[in-house]
Amino acid sequence: MSDVQTQPEPRSVLVTGGNRGIGLAIARAFAAQGDKVAVTVRTMCDMPDGILAVQADVTDSASLDAAFAEVEKAHGPVTVVVANAGITKDQLLMRMSEDEFTSVIDTNLTGAYRTVKRAITGMVRKKTGRVILISSVSGLYGAPGQFNYSASKAGLVGMARSLTRELGSRGITANVVAPGFIRTEMTDALGEDKKREYLANVPAKRFAEADEVARVVTWIAGPDAAYISGAVIPVDGGLGMGH
Ligand code: NDP
Repeated sequence: MSDVQTQPEPRSVLVTGGNRGIGLAIARAFAAQGDKVAVTVRTMCDMPDGILAVQADVTDSASLDAAFAEVEKAHGPVTVVVANAGITKDQLLMRMSEDEFTSVIDTNLTGAYRTVKRAITGMVRKKTGRVILISSVSGLYGAPGQFNYSASKAGLVGMARSLTRELGSRGITANVVAPGFIRTEMTDALGEDKKREYLANVPAKRFAEADEVARVVTWIAGPDAAYISGAVIPVDGGLGMGH
């Protein structure tokens, strides 16, 4: 028998690193469909109407815990969490310092651990939840200069799949969205030569907009995707095909 859910009530959604880039686009997309949306920011700032900003750094469990408590008070238990906060510190391995390695892991991978661990308590209690981890084509395909970043993003796949096996029977799904080149401050920082070089390998021959990632995230968090868990969904114009 079908166990497909009908369109849920507005849910309490939390997106980490939601003050700009892909995180902000994801937050806007959830808000546009009527969900109660909060984003973590490191520095308090004005957010668009309908989006609550809470202060947290994903490298600091106590600040995340306080942010979740604030969101729970305002919107109820978080049933959709998007671990989006991420950084790059690109460097060839031969020159990569231990700090460049561990700080990227601490934000991108351990930050996702801290976020998801805090989120699932409420999800288990409510017997429903959507965990979405924002990975990268680099985590699957590899990229020179991204030994640290690729490792952190590949680790998210293991997390989603382990969580699926742990909590799949509790109405909770965990999926990975793996963007390719999306126009944000992160990719603006690449030089023009680098951008041209990357673009040459993208079958779609263009960078994507953050909204194109956001629409996939809201879909994977929605009722039509209730039976999808442990999946890696690329949004990369074909760049990572088969990885
Ligand atoms: P941006 O650099 O534009 O934004 C990164 C966000 O993460 C910011 O909100 C930033 O906050 C936040 N952040 C960074 N470190 C921390 C931290 N310690 N605690 C809390 N928040 C933090 O990046 P994008 O929007 O481009 O990227 C978003 C996600 O998508 C990242 O995980 C990235 O790896 C991934 N991605 C991006 C791609 C792209 O082409 N742009 C491709 C593939 C994956 P603050 O403003 O305070 O710095």
